[in-house]
Amino acid sequence: MSQQPITSPDIRLISAEELSFFLKENGESAFRQKQISEWLWKKGAINFDEMTNLSLILREKLKSSFTFKAAAISQERQSNDGTAKFVFTLHDGHKIEGVLIPSNDRVTTCVSSQVGCALACGFCATGTMGFTRNLHATEIWDQFILMNRRSVELYGKEVTNIVYMGMGEPLLNYDNVLESIRLLTTDTGKGLSPSRITLSTVGITQGIRQLADDGFKAGLAVSLHTADEQVRKEIMPVTKTNSLDELRQALQYFVGKTGSRITFEYVMLSGINDSLRDAEKLAQYCKSFPVKINIIEYNRTDSDFRGSIPQAKETFVRFLENRNLIVNIRKSKGEDIDAACGQLVEKSRKSR
Ligand code: SAH
Repeated sequence: MSQQPITSPDIRLISAEELSFFLKENGESAFRQKQISEWLWKKGAINFDEMTNLSLILREKLKSSFTFKAAAISQERQSNDGTAKFVFTLHDGHKIEGVLIPSNDRVTTCVSSQVGCALACGFCATGTMGFTRNLHATEIWDQFILMNRRSVELYGKEVTNIVYMGMGEPLLNYDNVLESIRLLTTDTGKGLSPSRITLSTVGITQGIRQLADDGFKAGLAVSLHTADEQVRKEIMPVTKTNSLDELRQALQYFVGKTGSRITFEYVMLSGINDSLRDAEKLAQYCKSFPVKINIIEYNRTDSDFRGSIPQAKETFVRFLENRNLIVNIRKSKGEDIDAACGQLVEKSRKSR
């Protein structure tokens, strides 16, 4: 356990001026500042001991003056298909989950943006947890750093893609999510291309507009799931205040400003959103902007929803393709370890 008083600031949250003041006060050379920043961001250190080009004395001084509130992997499970699910324990004992998904030429990591989720979508296990708190940008960053290390160990390569599709609603934790993307993409951080990052939202219209105004460069996915207003309100309660009409306008604004194409996620639910009439409504809705549709299989949760039967799925997809829409059918990964979309839930909400 650390010895410092509880008021010690977190090393990753202090400003450059504060660090430089600390180094001066302790008779350390100014160039240490650059080394420390490199460890924190470029090299993704998770504690002071990893900063091996600093003297032992300086590391000890840092330890006694600052905290390093890194998340830690507290559980790991591997699926038969290679997918790995991780539970992270945060500095205050809360737990979140992340997933590593290897495929032919890439390794995708799925990160959480909040502890729990306030949206309560009827088909999603995370929704049953309720909302606990937002994640700090560094807690999102830590998920990437720790899973990237495991990716190298498990699959022999670093993470290539990041999706904000874990627990939580990214656009209800806007500033921290955007700051984490900045850290991942900036040259002094991980330097990843924004095109390798996808943010998924339930469709928070104010947040989508803000992304457009902020010059968002990563991919945007929207969990549409149905183009029927009434059904959407029933299965996704948050859409009572983020209607399909408002969403259309926000997305048109986004596309107009960024020139990007939207990805719609559509989980096929038997008898809910999988009829030809539903496909027709979806095709109609898609006319307003350039889109790509990802058809997602329903992954088992404790809800009463059931996935669509293969024939309904095929007819649905064929209809959309005949309307010249781009449709991808996403195979579920990691379902056997509850690591698939919508299956991330922490039953013991807080343990130390
Ligand atoms: N809150 C954001 C981020 C979560 S992403 C959002 O809604 O987009 C997780 C994706 O998995 C969302 O598209 C979500 O709707 C979907 N999902 C939730 N439960 C699911 C389930 N049981 N089966 C398949 N997909 C599910």
